[in-house]
Amino acid sequence: MAGQELKWNLNDIVAKGKFDETYAGIEKDITGMTEQIKLLKPQMSLAEFKQVIEFREDLKTRLSKLSSYGELWENADLKSQDAKLYKSRSQDLGIKLSDAILPLEHWLKGLAVEGLEKLDDFNANRLFAELPDLEYVFNYNRAAAQHTLSQGEERLITRKSVTGSQALVDMYNLITDSFEYKFQPQGQKAKIFKVQGQVRNYYYSARAAEREAAYKAVFKPYHDNEDKLFVIYRALAKDWDNDAKLRNFPNPVSVRNFYNRVPDAAINTLLEVCQQNVGIYQDLFRYKAKLLKMKKLRRYDLFAPLEAPKAKMPLPEAKKLVLDIFRDFAPGFAERAESIFRANHIDSHPRPGKDTGAFCSDIAPGVTPYILLNYTGNNSSVSTLAHELGHGVHDLYAQGHYFSSSHTTLPLAETASTISELMVFEKLLSQARSDKERRAMLLEKLGDSYATVIRQAYFVMFENQAHKRITEGIKSDQLSDLYIKQLRSQLGSAVEVAEEFRSEWAYIPHIFQTPFYCYAYNFGELLALALFARYKDEGRPFVPKIEKILAYGGSQSPDRIIKEVGMDMSSPEFWQGSFEVVKGWLSELKRLSK
Ligand SMILES: [Zn+2]
Repeated sequence: MAGQELKWNLNDIVAKGKFDETYAGIEKDITGMTEQIKLLKPQMSLAEFKQVIEFREDLKTRLSKLSSYGELWENADLKSQDAKLYKSRSQDLGIKLSDAILPLEHWLKGLAVEGLEKLDDFNANRLFAELPDLEYVFNYNRAAAQHTLSQGEERLITRKSVTGSQALVDMYNLITDSFEYKFQPQGQKAKIFKVQGQVRNYYYSARAAEREAAYKAVFKPYHDNEDKLFVIYRALAKDWDNDAKLRNFPNPVSVRNFYNRVPDAAINTLLEVCQQNVGIYQDLFRYKAKLLKMKKLRRYDLFAPLEAPKAKMPLPEAKKLVLDIFRDFAPGFAERAESIFRANHIDSHPRPGKDTGAFCSDIAPGVTPYILLNYTGNNSSVSTLAHELGHGVHDLYAQGHYFSSSHTTLPLAETASTISELMVFEKLLSQARSDKERRAMLLEKLGDSYATVIRQAYFVMFENQAHKRITEGIKSDQLSDLYIKQLRSQLGSAVEVAEEFRSEWAYIPHIFQTPFYCYAYNFGELLALALFARYKDEGRPFVPKIEKILAYGGSQSPDRIIKEVGMDMSSPEFWQGSFEVVKGWLSELKRLSK
């Protein structure tokens, strides 16, 4: 590892020793916002409007750099008191800025603001057209305001949710955090775990008895507390549905779709196509049973590993591999990724006191993004390097925007990262030293695909049903019936599902905390796969289209961006393309095993 470790230079966002000065400059200009707001009139000139908006964009950009400074510093050195101080001071400044621009934000949305004349639709269109880059963001916020209630009602909802839905989520966490897990593989002594993650590690154990014991241990307390957890879930679901109705959304899931900026039709199609392709995964599980020399796979065995030698790659070699792949795909990808290395914006290796995991932080237009890794040299490390560089490349393609339209919206946020990861996966697969290694890699990839795509889609389908049934009146037991019925139809005759999986719904925090959120994972993954499939089909001529999608940043709706390159996310064919890639992996796996 010596000599390989990269550390990032944060002085590109705040010059060395200049935090206080930068802070004071932003603070002074925030007070200037008051003067800008006085200019707001529906009849104001285009030049004045542009000036006010650019004043706001400039402040947001400068504040984002300042707050990223403390945050990134803390990620790299969790114990640094200086970092914590800078972070909390930037947060204070952030509150000042959002207070100062609140009247402007409300005014743009067409809401009533004291002392200002309301912005009517005609003038909104006139003014917004002056800043085409921000037009989509402005209009989206105006549409969001249509789902907003009166100020008094909103205030009441916010206050009541603290003692209502938020308190229920706290209750859920309190109850489940107190769980203990009794792990007892057949023929062994029982072990008590207090941390669920430690038991969950055994889902991936090479020993069948340990996998079974892990699921049994995890679900037991959920089953024992099912009645309590049901009361919480029922209340949260009803609260969500009432809110959706009050805010004029056609369905409970539409609320989530609106915030994710995707049309209801696209999500319906996505879920249907997932359901139609469930056979690929059932086929995989039948095949996996053979590889594991089992008659039939049990639900406990879905993530069982195949033993294989593990390859290691030093960082400079991985960097070269990824950059070569990028260059082969599109020179623009390689140049952008190289510029992140050149800028010294990467913190590469694990060390005590550093944050775990990996991320790419896109700060503002004009700033090269920062990447944190915990590189160890195994295959998944190399693939994470490609993933995070993909995010960085995406951000650099989208530099030509205002701050507020530069950040990519959720559905497209994983496009470049997933495509980068896919290209690296195919390369590593071709370079693997033995068929045994290749088989293990394919099996792991297919398992990941099941977990991100099918499993998540079925969670959302379950939620759709659960919300409906809860409205009609349902008991805890019936909800568990509904769950296990859906799980069994998902896995078909390929996998044996034991009774304890009835309680699995209670173990998915997302359905309590952020209803209908689970499809976000599979949406991003499948969308990237669909684009990758098109690329493999059409080759080079398709690359500029991908670059175009990335360059949009957050300046258009995802639906419109995808249509621009001649595809339609509400059509089944679009999503089917993604599953063709998955099918390809499965037939390769079968070929290798012959
Ligand atoms: Zn990502």
